[in-house]
Amino acid sequence: MDADLERLKKQLPLLEYLQRHNWSGRRAGAQQEFVGLCPLHRETHPSFYVNARRNLFYCHGCARGGDLIRFVQFFYDLSFPQSVAYLKQELTAAAQAASISELLSQAAAYYRFELHRCPEAVHYLQRRGLHDSALIEELGIGYARGGNLRRHLAGLGYSLDQLLDTGLINQQGRDAFCRRVIFPCGQNGQTVNLYGRSIGAAFPHRLLPRPKGGLFAWESARNFSSIILVEGLFDLAVLWQAGFRNSTCALGTHLTSVQLAQLCEPPARCVYIAFDQDENQAGQQTAHQLAQQLERAHLNVRVVQLPDGQDPNSYFTARGTAADFSNYLERAQPL
Ligand SMILES: [Zn+2]
Repeated sequence: MDADLERLKKQLPLLEYLQRHNWSGRRAGAQQEFVGLCPLHRETHPSFYVNARRNLFYCHGCARGGDLIRFVQFFYDLSFPQSVAYLKQELTAAAQAASISELLSQAAAYYRFELHRCPEAVHYLQRRGLHDSALIEELGIGYARGGNLRRHLAGLGYSLDQLLDTGLINQQGRDAFCRRVIFPCGQNGQTVNLYGRSIGAAFPHRLLPRPKGGLFAWESARNFSSIILVEGLFDLAVLWQAGFRNSTCALGTHLTSVQLAQLCEPPARCVYIAFDQDENQAGQQTAHQLAQQLERAHLNVRVVQLPDGQDPNSYFTARGTAADFSNYLERAQPL
């Protein structure tokens, strides 16, 4: 029994479990120690420590601590045997998430390989102002020409059912992504979704029918004390290209609870909202509503006013410079 429990805790490391359940912590000290807001009591100053090497937690705010089983007992108010049963189900879910991540990574790798064989995709990236090949590689950008993914993945041993389950192949048996530029969306080291931007007449945006994950490339943006939040991945790509590596993207204008929690750790971060400036003011209104929501979460918010009809992508594509964009950031007003 003890050996069973030790194996369970090894297979479900505490830190990974917490991160998968949207806990966000930053490294504290040289040891494998992380600190963040306590999931067990309400607080605004982080006092919840996780030691990844020892697989233990301790909260200085509510003085509770222990291993993963203990955490689950506190969090869900379960008995010891109930917690163990719950964690066994979690183990199955974690294994499923890992296998989906592997499949999505394989698809993304294939799309990456295809990108440079499809001139229409390369031209599209150029038209959207994206020319830095190292960045294109870093973002994992690929291209789905359509009609060939199924055979490729079947060659790697994937069944049609698996492709249908993830949504890579739709119920009609066709590629979900066809003539689309692909960005893989990662979270905690796993690929959780793929975003496809149509280069033709089809509806511009498509995600697989599964959670979109956290903020895009959050692992690299999270260390900045001020963040530029944009709507779309092409906005993000040109901002990174112009040196604004503190940009992230919510894949839309609404934040999920996961994404909001990410922005709030550490507290009081400064967030620049740089959404589309629509001529009918729709984008500005959305930015304003989001700014109110973020202020309620104690973030320092600034709304960036680009020229009418522009978004960060079109701004840089129309020869906007990094210096000019910095001016827009400086002029951005709190609510
Ligand atoms: Zn606590």
